[in-house]
Amino acid sequence: MNILFMGPPGAGKGTQAEKILEKLGIPHIATGDMFRSAMANGTPLGLKAKEYMESGALVPDDVTIGIVGDRLAEADCQPGFLLDGFPRTVPQADALKDILAKSDRQVDAVINIEMQTDILMKRLSGRRICKQCGASFHKLFVPPQQAGVCDHCGGELYTRKDDSRETAQKRLDVHAEQTQPLIDYYQQQGLLKNIQGDQPVEKVLEDILAALG
Ligand code: ADP
Ligand code: ADP
Ligand code: ZN
Repeated sequence: MNILFMGPPGAGKGTQAEKILEKLGIPHIATGDMFRSAMANGTPLGLKAKEYMESGALVPDDVTIGIVGDRLAEADCQPGFLLDGFPRTVPQADALKDILAKSDRQVDAVINIEMQTDILMKRLSGRRICKQCGASFHKLFVPPQQAGVCDHCGGELYTRKDDSRETAQKRLDVHAEQTQPLIDYYQQQGLLKNIQGDQPVEKVLEDILAALG
């Protein structure tokens, strides 16, 4: 199954993707994780993405579409994949359609995690990320068993620079302007499944699994 996860920053895409994967066994492709890892390794891609990410803007479409196209061509994606945080613009969605059509594939379902803005700011300001595996925790809502340490891999937890109040607000604005139009785009194609994100993690998971049938 080829699945997209949409929803504003902090909606719980990464958290849910990680849980779904345990059940579906398909690769999790998170563009934000790919950019962060490229930045940490100082690759040319990381250098290109850095200033955009740090200011809360989107990385240009040509760069983003290029890395996703390469990733989707790999063998492990042929049986299915979960794209988290891509597409975020209409040109990205059009490009995805073309990339998949070339190998007789298509998007099967779009999970849209809906959330109110005031809760999103609380989610982002308390978010802690594992340096090693990228897993998301929250200092109040999803605390790790041991403060500062990842439950899954023992990696060190850190606060993303772009989760600072000002940059997080910018990301929410960018989402409303550039990504929100995709809701109609996928609604019109009959692929959109709306999920209420302001519920306990396990309940959101249950709703997503039900929506995927
Ligand atoms: P969030 O947790 O806020 O949803 P992500 O980790 O998905 O954030 O993305 C972090 C940043 O990476 C974005 O603010 C943007 O700069 C960049 N990014 C991620 N995905 C995309 C995309 N599809 N198009 C452009 N930029 C992206
Ligand atoms: P996204 O990938 O959509 O940006 P994350 O999965 O990183 O979002 O979640 C954002 C923050 O909210 C993290 O700190 C995460 O631990 C926390 N979180 C995720 N889902 C829930 C939930 N259902 N209830 C409370 N907090 C949550
Ligand atoms: Zn970890």
